[in-house]
Parts: sequence; structure tokens; C-alpha cells
Amino acid sequence: MADADVIIIGSGIGGLSCAAILARYGFDVLVCESHSIAGGAAHGFERNGFRFDSGPSLFSGLSAPSPNPLRQVLDAIEVTLPCAQYDTWGCFLPEGHFDTAVGAEQFCEVLQNCVGIKPCANGEIYSA
Ligand SMILES: Cc1cc2nc3c(=O)[nH]c(=O)nc-3n(C[C@H](O)[C@H](O)[C@H](O)COP(=O)(O)OP(=O)(O)OC[C@H]3O[C@@H](n4cnc5c(N)ncnc54)[C@H](O)[C@@H]3O)c2cc1C
Repeated sequence: MADADVIIIGSGIGGLSCAAILARYGFDVLVCESHSIAGGAAHGFERNGFRFDSGPSLFSGLSAPSPNPLRQVLDAIEVTLPCAQYDTWGCFLPEGHFDTAVGAEQFCEVLQNCVGIKPCANGEIYSA
């Protein structure tokens, strides 16, 4: 521990990204975590044979080169993750149940059908 160049407090995506980049450039890094599982808000756990995400269940922009900062960190450290692409995913909200997709186009339809907000031609939205 006394030999580490950098000590990072917290093993969330932010801390692990910093640690990975620093290690990539030759720094000796120590990551300290107060929880029993690494990953912060994005850690997962198992109960009774079921796997749970404590936070995010999907990340937009990881499966191909993109501006997603996490994807850029993974590219910098030359790590490839297996990615599954969602066509849509189901949302259960007080306003209703609907399937939604990445991007504005299909979500404008959702807004119109679910809460009566109509998209303009230029993509801006206004209430019906
Ligand atoms: C329910 C939910 C859904 C989400 N959905 C998405 C999504 O779909 N897509 C998306 O991109 N993002 C999503 N996010 C956001 C994403 O999970 C967070 O932005 C990201 O994980 C935060 O990472 P972080 O490193 O900034 O912080 P954190 O994950 O909070 O990590 C901080 C870490 O530091 C540790 N720590 C704090 N203080 C100390 C200390 N004194 N000593 C030691 N350790 C310490 C904590 O235990 C923790 O592990 C979601 C978040 C939640 C909660």
C-alpha cells in the first residue's frame, strides 16, 4: 500500500475507470472500497439463484465505438466486453407500460401514445 503511486477511494465505475487508465499508463494504483462488493452503484449480486443489478441494467453505446466515456476507457485499456443489444425494453411507469428503444424517434411515438405529447417535425416536443 505504501508503494502505490495513486490511491483511489471507491470502486464505482468512476474509480475503476481512473484506476484502469492510470494502470494502463504505468502507475501503481490501489483502489479502496468500503463495501464488500466492487462496482459501486453498478455492482451486481445473486440471491436464491437469481442475479440482480443494484443500479444500471443497460448501458447505451458500449457495443461499438461511441462517445460513451466508459466505452472510451475500455478502448484505451484494450478490453472487450461481451455486449447484447436490446431492440427494445419494457418500462412500467405510472403513466403506463410501454416498450422503448435507444434514440429519439421511437421514444417520440411512446410520448405521443402514452402521455399525449406530440413531437414536432424538428424533433422538439410540445404538449397536445
Ligand atoms: C437504479 C440505478 C439505475 C441506473 N441506470 C443507469 C443506466 O441505465 N445507464 C447508465 O449509464 N447509468 C445508470 N445509472 C448510473 C450509474 O450506475 C452511476 O452513474 C455510476 O455507477 C456511478 O459511478 P461512480 O463511480 O461515480 O459512483 P458510485 O457507483 O457511487 O461509486 C462510489 C464507490 O465509492 C465507495 N465509497 C464511497 N466512500 C468511500 C470511502 N470513504 N471509502 C471507501 N469506499 C467508499 C462506495 O461504496 C462506492 O462503491 C444508474 C444508477 C442507479 C442507482
